[in-house]
Amino acid sequence: MYTDSHCHLDPDVYGGDSGVDEVVARARAAGVSRLITIGAGYGAPTAEAAIRVAERHDDVFCTVGLHPHDAKLWDEPLRDRLGELAAHPKCVGMGEMGLDFHYDLSDRDVQRRVLREQIALARACRRPVVVHDREAGDETLKTLEEEGAFGVGVLFHCFTGDVALMERIVEDGGYISIPGIVTFKNAGTMREVAARVPEDRLLVETDSPFLTPVPFRGTKNEPARVAVVAEFVAGLRGVSPADLGATTSANTRRFFGLP
Ligand SMILES: [Zn+2]
Ligand SMILES: [Zn+2]
Repeated sequence: MYTDSHCHLDPDVYGGDSGVDEVVARARAAGVSRLITIGAGYGAPTAEAAIRVAERHDDVFCTVGLHPHDAKLWDEPLRDRLGELAAHPKCVGMGEMGLDFHYDLSDRDVQRRVLREQIALARACRRPVVVHDREAGDETLKTLEEEGAFGVGVLFHCFTGDVALMERIVEDGGYISIPGIVTFKNAGTMREVAARVPEDRLLVETDSPFLTPVPFRGTKNEPARVAVVAEFVAGLRGVSPADLGATTSANTRRFFGLP
């Protein structure tokens, strides 16, 4: 019924493999039929861990890549390793990659170079691109256009831009994923975007373990809560949660080429 298009099923966060398995079981019980776990963070070990989780569960798929926070870890061996991992049958995308000018945890010029190199890798591996953008929307979009990312597919996850940026991304053929932030009191712009993304480009996500939606704030987020996000977005769009779940699941399947 629902698909969580973006979560981090990190065994270190959820109490090891058995903890991750319980989180996946709770998601199934909440009607979440598919999950995409994002293998991007502290270099190759994060990507390898995501593949192992996806191998253990038929309904979990994964991406591999390097988060812009960690762009400083990029080197040739890591690029080659990510290229190998991308060929795994459960790896359906590359990323999250992008630019984060809010936290600036890696030097901006390093982030810029690594984004371009990861797009090239995604194109070589024929995997769609999951984008992380914080306060760098115009430059991120320009880079994606220049590097031909839309040829393999572009998904802006946790989209925090405005309606105008959303419309440019959609015009280029991109997809938009809405997280639990949409339930926060001060998220007026995101609610406007969530109401207006064209039906065939909208996805929903939890970004677990982060961004826990209202009324669960203060607890660790998990993919079962994508049902909360979907119900909220359904209300904004004046459709039923079941319809919103079906549409966003179909969009996620099309974007990532899921079986
Ligand atoms: Zn992100
Ligand atoms: Zn993420």
